[in-house]
Amino acid sequence: MSTPRLEIELDLLHDNATHLVQVLAARGIGVTAVTKATLGSPEVAWALLAAGVRGLGESRIENVERLRAAGVTAPITLVRSPMLSQAERVVAAADTSLNTEPAVLAALSAAAVAQGRTHGVVLMVELGDLREGILAEDLPAVVDLTLVLANLELRGIGTNLACQNGVVPDDANMAALSDLARLVEARIGRPLAVVSGGNSANHGWATGAADVGHVNDLRLGEAILLGVDPLDRTPIAGLRTDAFTLVAEVIEQKAKPSMPWGAIAQTAFGTQAAPVETRTCERVIVALGRQDVAPDGLTAPPGLAILGASSDHLVLAVDPSVATAPPAVGHEVRFDVDYAALLRAMTSPFVTRTYVTAAPPSSTGASVV
Ligand SMILES: *Cc1c(COP(=O)(O)O)cnc(C)c1O
Repeated sequence: MSTPRLEIELDLLHDNATHLVQVLAARGIGVTAVTKATLGSPEVAWALLAAGVRGLGESRIENVERLRAAGVTAPITLVRSPMLSQAERVVAAADTSLNTEPAVLAALSAAAVAQGRTHGVVLMVELGDLREGILAEDLPAVVDLTLVLANLELRGIGTNLACQNGVVPDDANMAALSDLARLVEARIGRPLAVVSGGNSANHGWATGAADVGHVNDLRLGEAILLGVDPLDRTPIAGLRTDAFTLVAEVIEQKAKPSMPWGAIAQTAFGTQAAPVETRTCERVIVALGRQDVAPDGLTAPPGLAILGASSDHLVLAVDPSVATAPPAVGHEVRFDVDYAALLRAMTSPFVTRTYVTAAPPSSTGASVV
């Protein structure tokens, strides 16, 4: 099998999504499964849809189009504000988009009229993390604009925390979201279908809060894919953290001195962690680098420690206290990935994907390849 490759266990992703759907359903919250870290993988999407998520979320129109081309007909929400220049593509491929800009809403409306379609709008509100979002005092005017623009349907409001400044979802900011939802509902005279509390960083609040208020949707990527809480990257109880494994091949294995020699300046990628003086060190190099993965996000198997990485080489030290022989040239080494490593590996043209196990067939009849 070719390397480097990502091995993806679809049944584990299916199990994670099933667990989250069940736990959150008990709190009146549906799951929008965000597939952006998988480059919009249809195989992953089918596994998650079969688990009962209410729809898919994607950040890139190219990924939405890939899912549609593969036959995915489930609702897809574009979770990044559409580019003005992509309004037509957004309306053609996505059912709904998250929005903050009047000019974009106008372009979506024009595109929807031209295509004879209705486009769903979720307005994102700023609640402190200072990434995307309309300030609360400006929300009523944008609501009114959305209502008058032809072929747009105001589906709800949402917010995003924890991504830019690490602001933690809590009772205060989630109550603020519920209050804004009530205000919008009073203004438009009907309930909102979507009050989207946030991303995987909301899992702790949503499962622990005494009252989730009006929040009825979470957009979950990392929690489903990697089974961890992004606030502190600890595993979430009941979820698997090992659905993805990055496999790379050894291209050099030698015993070398532990300390470099010669005058020392910058490395290929700035400063490297200072080498530690030991005895002669068994080293291996695997054919994996920054063109394939974010090396800081890799966890090496027991007995191997990552010393550093450049564009194409990942250098590992063999722990002499571990009895097993160092992997020889041609052997494979398996790494766990974090979110950054997964995202880079999935979007690298050098990394192939292997779907190791098949999820149960989806309820919509789509087959898993
Ligand atoms: C990426 C993203 C998500 C999903 O984030 P996770 O932390 O992977 O759950 C949700 N909403 C928006 C707006 C995003 O950009």
